[in-house]
Amino acid sequence: MSNFPYKVVVGLEIHVQLCTKTKMFCGCAVEFGQPPNSRVCPVCLGMPGVLPVMNKQAFEHSVLVALALNCKIAEFTKWDRKSYYYPDLPKNYQISQYDLPLGANGFIEIPLDGGRTKRIGITRVHLEEDAGKNLHTAGNFSQVDLNRAGTPLLEIVTEPDMSSAAEVRALAVELQRMVRFLGVSVADMQKGHMRFEPNINLVITKDGSEYKTPIAEIKNLNSFRALERSVAVEEQRQLDEFLETGRVMGMGNKTTRGWDDAEQTTVLLREKEEAHDYRYFPEPDLVPVEMNERWLNDIKAGLCELPIKKQMRYVNEYNLSDYDAGVLTAERSTAEFFVQVVDAGGEPKRVCNLLTQAGLKLANEKVCSVAELGITAGNLAELAKMIEAGTVSASAGNTIMQEMVKSGAAPETIAEELNLMQKSDTGELETIVDEIIAANPKAVDDVKSGGKKCKKAHGFLLGQVMQKTKGQANPQIVSQILAEKLN
Ligand code: ZN
Ligand code: MN
Repeated sequence: MSNFPYKVVVGLEIHVQLCTKTKMFCGCAVEFGQPPNSRVCPVCLGMPGVLPVMNKQAFEHSVLVALALNCKIAEFTKWDRKSYYYPDLPKNYQISQYDLPLGANGFIEIPLDGGRTKRIGITRVHLEEDAGKNLHTAGNFSQVDLNRAGTPLLEIVTEPDMSSAAEVRALAVELQRMVRFLGVSVADMQKGHMRFEPNINLVITKDGSEYKTPIAEIKNLNSFRALERSVAVEEQRQLDEFLETGRVMGMGNKTTRGWDDAEQTTVLLREKEEAHDYRYFPEPDLVPVEMNERWLNDIKAGLCELPIKKQMRYVNEYNLSDYDAGVLTAERSTAEFFVQVVDAGGEPKRVCNLLTQAGLKLANEKVCSVAELGITAGNLAELAKMIEAGTVSASAGNTIMQEMVKSGAAPETIAEELNLMQKSDTGELETIVDEIIAANPKAVDDVKSGGKKCKKAHGFLLGQVMQKTKGQANPQIVSQILAEKLN
């Protein structure tokens, strides 16, 4: 419809729920799925006269993320009150960080197709408290559950450096992997541990001039799919709107939109939004936080090799595909277990296949990580060696792995018990090959003639041997014997 070239410009605001034991400013437990209003106290209920106390662990988790995002860590930060008049935060303000966020001016590398990466700027990282949940499912009135009120929430704001829906998704996925690697959030999307708010507009070139469409912010997306789809849909909507109305960015026409998942559209929530007046002011009940070198070094000790670096290293060091390395490094324990198995003598690609095929399937069934399946690195390396040597087939390897999870037995024991050892004894196999050759003179002639039918006939004879050995012959060895006898 449009012949005008244009660029999409997207920035992202992300809220991440931190996995601390207790809430941000009180001692209530942070637990998902508990009876409503069972994890509350006078502090998070906003009773008069109570005093908040900062959760040091939440602050350290946040600094760790800011470090991983290459941010400059503030030596001095403070808390601010942000006016918030809704029942899900009963003290009528949210404690947040306004002008002095704990981290700023960082960046994250995100993976793109074909092993390329792109650097996206991080504007700021700050810590705040989450609100509770308003529920509107009880008929004529609303209910509020304050179990989540006051739980620590990390807010990350990126620069508008992303230029496609796919890049936005890549950043979200990378961030999820990062906070999981760092052990600061479970980052379970279904439990709302990560929420996204993309800011989108287009820069359209028309008749030699650039036109910027009004920025739309899409609120509260909580799945990668909704995030990616909503950005793609909003891109098209803005293009259509520009072609129809010529409307461009200007004062008072930044809009807030929501995502209608059923209709797969963005819907207008608020228009002509004025500059927000949250009436921020410094929180008088909390002391500022001063970061010293020793404390910062202690926190830095919690850094690890970040997933994207690990992924690239696995490609180079273990000669894996970018895809395989990505699957292995989706989770830190899986990535580390892989290395243990390789260090124990497993060939990297074989180990990768076992972990990402049978391993992930079994882990899904047992709702645990691959590393928690109860298989030792030594045993898995042994299994990889058996497959490598042709002692068992790759598919038998998966069966053996299943049994290893059940019984914890060594792969060789299982292979023998289940009769999965491939016959590689050349003497025994030669006898069988001789029998097959004697019984199939036509196919033998075809092979010997070396014509078009040669390959097919060779395959037929090989198949006969495999059948006779009930699939237990090592096909490579049988093929060799056949070739030697018929040439
Ligand atoms: Zn509380
Ligand atoms: Mn926020």
